[in-house]
Amino acid sequence: MNEPIEILAALIVDSLRIVVFVGAGVSTESGIPDFRSPGGVWDKYDPQEFYFQRFLENEASREKYWQMATEIYESMKNAQPNPAHLAIAELEGLGKLDCLITQNIDGLHFKAGNSPDRVLELHGTAMHVTCLNCYKRYDRDAIQIRIADGDKAPRCDECKGLLKPATISFGQSMPVEETQAAYDHSTACDLFIVIGSSLVVQPAAQMPVIAKRNGAKLVIINRDETPCDPIADYVVHAQAGPTMATVIDQVKRALANR
Ligand SMILES: [Zn+2]
Repeated sequence: MNEPIEILAALIVDSLRIVVFVGAGVSTESGIPDFRSPGGVWDKYDPQEFYFQRFLENEASREKYWQMATEIYESMKNAQPNPAHLAIAELEGLGKLDCLITQNIDGLHFKAGNSPDRVLELHGTAMHVTCLNCYKRYDRDAIQIRIADGDKAPRCDECKGLLKPATISFGQSMPVEETQAAYDHSTACDLFIVIGSSLVVQPAAQMPVIAKRNGAKLVIINRDETPCDPIADYVVHAQAGPTMATVIDQVKRALANR
């Protein structure tokens, strides 16, 4: 019954360059709502109002943006890593993680113990705020204190530039370096594991295809079907946390017996 899980564990043991690709499904298991799902943030707010261009254009849009962003941040700031995050961090500890590509902005991979040089945050991070003018970086909590004190659209201490959470907004270009690095690692890996992503957001959804085309084995763990299921070597339709907990146990056992 657990055959694909056993096969995945064996693949991890035998592979040399493993890329893990993570989507919203891993965050939801830590209690963070999926913004795109029914009842999520984008049901409540109109995405049109939060395009990057609007943020640049006027103060009222910026205030509204920060109100929405504060609501999102409240849902994630106290969240804790779940067994899927912990299993991925263990992969790194075992020397079995070339690169982790994440679409999530909650910083939970770092709370789980992954190191920054192994993680590519394709959609940025909500854990920091940056100045759009001088690029000074601020800790998110420090800025949220200002918001709570009535500063509705905070500005940079240094240059008075606009401050914005370090996430990628609608209409804002993808981070060039991270996206290129994600493509490079996808091209060069020998095992590509998708965990908790429906693989519908571009360009991220291209990465498993690129990996597969360049000879990697492709394994998908997701609750629902994905458009890449037909090209995957193995597909597990299940929750990320319990599945990865079982996988990592088997990997550790296999490595210990070597
Ligand atoms: Zn600045």
